Amino acid sequence: MAPSPVTAHRLPPTDTSGLACERNRPLARWTTLRVGGPAEWSVQVRSSAELARAVTVATERDLPWRILGGGSNVLISDAGVGGLVILNAARSVLEETVCSEELRVRVESGAPLAGLARRLARAGWAGLEWGCGIPGTVGGAIVGNAGAHGGEIKDALVGATLLDNGHERAVVVTELGYGYRTSALARSPAPLPVLAAEFRLHRAAVDECLGKIAEYERWRRAHQPREHSAGSMFKNPPGTAAGRLIDAAGLKGAEHGGAQISTRHANFFVTQPGATAADIVALIRLARRTVLERFGIQLELEISPLGRWEHDPRYVGGSN
Ligand SMILES: Cc1cc2nc3c(=O)[nH]c(=O)nc-3n(C[C@H](O)[C@H](O)[C@H](O)COP(=O)(O)OP(=O)(O)OC[C@H]3O[C@@H](n4cnc5c(N)ncnc54)[C@H](O)[C@@H]3O)c2cc1C
Repeated sequence: MAPSPVTAHRLPPTDTSGLACERNRPLARWTTLRVGGPAEWSVQVRSSAELARAVTVATERDLPWRILGGGSNVLISDAGVGGLVILNAARSVLEETVCSEELRVRVESGAPLAGLARRLARAGWAGLEWGCGIPGTVGGAIVGNAGAHGGEIKDALVGATLLDNGHERAVVVTELGYGYRTSALARSPAPLPVLAAEFRLHRAAVDECLGKIAEYERWRRAHQPREHSAGSMFKNPPGTAAGRLIDAAGLKGAEHGGAQISTRHANFFVTQPGATAADIVALIRLARRTVLERFGIQLELEISPLGRWEHDPRYVGGSN
């Protein structure tokens, strides 16, 4: 009997590289919004070497790939994601060097940002306290230039190790083209994988570091919803806040299926069990269209849509 044809989108359950690939893994639970379909193929990697290997294997097989960190800034389509989704659990601290009043810490990109910020604050190292309420990984924060309470990842970042054409490439922070919630990586149609990152922190009193964290946590508890969300749906337009515009347009509490524009913070779109990505897209359309009609302002998505879409969520409801 002739062997069945092997298409570019087929991987054996355990790839020859030793990575255990899974077919049709539901992705919703890997995201904070809890919606979306399965990954055609997926693999969980536990080290930056495995992450590099997964990207290399996919590239060799012409398989599109995408890295998922904490899944806290993505919207996965209901149709799911084709190719290989790499679930990044590479969380090791690679190196810590203290030099007088400064700490240099090098971590793998799947390290949770909040956990890192808290651990360093407890040891009296300041510079990442603002990240303690951000539920994603270091890699996701580097791609999106995550920030809060006046801090941004780029301020503490020394540089990152990327995978470029199968080789590790060290870049310094100034090469990453940072802007408000964006970077050269985010703007690229084919973002390079972030394998690891190095941060610089400075010596401070433990009480001071933990005091800031407590204050930020209080602020989040008072202002942000507890339900599943992806944080801010839209970037803040220059001079104003997206949430304020959506609220002023009367859309707080608007619902579609299992999704709602939060009654607590209008730039947070929250979900209940049974919600779909299509429900979120319907609310994105409503918010963008209404804010454009009322205020002439085009809202730009902060989250990254992943997967196959009938209508690209970045453009629904707008004039572009
Ligand atoms: C309750 C809540 C509060 C939030 N508050 C904030 C806030 O205050 N400030 C803020 O900036 N954000 C906030 N966010 C959004 C989100 O947590 C951040 O953007 C976070 O940095 C995303 O990291 P992640 O690992 O979850 O990325 P993911 O959502 O997994 O991925 C985001 C993008 O980065 C890419 N990516 C991820 N890892 C890598 C890698 N290693 N190499 C290459 N590409 C990669 C993905 O492919 C995707 O395109 C919040 C989210 C929630 C749910």
